[in-house]
Amino acid sequence: MKKIVTIGEIVVEIMATELGNGFLEPIPLVGPFPSGAPAIFIDQVARLDQPCGIVSCVGNDDFGKLNIDRLKADGVDTSAIRVIPEYATGSAFVRYREDGNRDFVFNIKQSANGQIGPAPEVDALFDSADCLHVMGSALFCEGSVKLSLQAAEVIKAKGGLVTFDPNLRKEMLDLPGMREAMQEILSKTDLFLPSGPELSLLTEAKDDVGAIAELLSRGVTAIVLKQGSEGASYIDARGRIDQPAFAVEEIDPTGAGDSFGGAFVTCWLRGEDPAASLRFAAAAGALAVTRKGPMEGTSRRAEIEAFLTERA
Ligand code: ATP
Ligand code: MG
Repeated sequence: MKKIVTIGEIVVEIMATELGNGFLEPIPLVGPFPSGAPAIFIDQVARLDQPCGIVSCVGNDDFGKLNIDRLKADGVDTSAIRVIPEYATGSAFVRYREDGNRDFVFNIKQSANGQIGPAPEVDALFDSADCLHVMGSALFCEGSVKLSLQAAEVIKAKGGLVTFDPNLRKEMLDLPGMREAMQEILSKTDLFLPSGPELSLLTEAKDDVGAIAELLSRGVTAIVLKQGSEGASYIDARGRIDQPAFAVEEIDPTGAGDSFGGAFVTCWLRGEDPAASLRFAAAAGALAVTRKGPMEGTSRRAEIEAFLTERA
């Protein structure tokens, strides 16, 4: 079976239990929950019994241990997660506003995550990989940008595949070198998984049709466009397949895109047909929003299959 690896932030998420604005007074919180977009993605892959691993850094603290224990228990290769005693594990505090938007306090770049970089364990993991998934959110520091570019090169050179979810926080695109790094990754990308407006983020064409044509002509084999509760579409040179979202009660949308992505990439790598892969991934995304906690939303194959049988 093909092995999927990813690179990037591991954090704990601590969330407000009530709606409101920001963190300027004492409020009830719940957490820590294991989190980080690349970590959620790879946990979903592992829960589908696909071989997989992550390159990351955590501190020598409970937040790091909680994440490693969880990933290990779900079957992720954690050999390239370095424990760095001088730094604390990354964290994100989140509070939902009445209108559904969120306020965050992040500690990622200054945490152990900022130390992501080369190591013998990292090389060994890349050597064992057939597919690299690049998560745009992981390109927050020079070390992880460099490592992601290097990994894309190594994995492509040995005939592997690169999948790319730009998963971008807008302010990141203006960091020095970020556009160039993203373009470089895109030039090596086989499967591109943007959400909504990210479709034309890295193209000259600014309309969807033009952006799709440009991406396909630049060597991207297939695009999976994520549109939240409006569903998702698969597009390649042969055409387009639309998959509506399943109707579910949304409890916590965080991590839906990552669970969806982990499920889609796994099916696609196994050679399953695009329509079936899209439906399976949409079920993973729908299940993710019904559970509170970012990584709590990942599902096992049997859960997804049961959900699909129920909805058939
Ligand atoms: P993220 O906020 O995690 O980065 P994303 O923008 O990458 O998310 P979304 O489009 O929000 O990804 O979600 C991915 C897929 O999950 C959707 O295409 C859809 O199939 C499913 N999904 C997301 N939200 C819902 C919802 N509220 N109800 C049902 N399905 C959903
Ligand atoms: Mg996303």
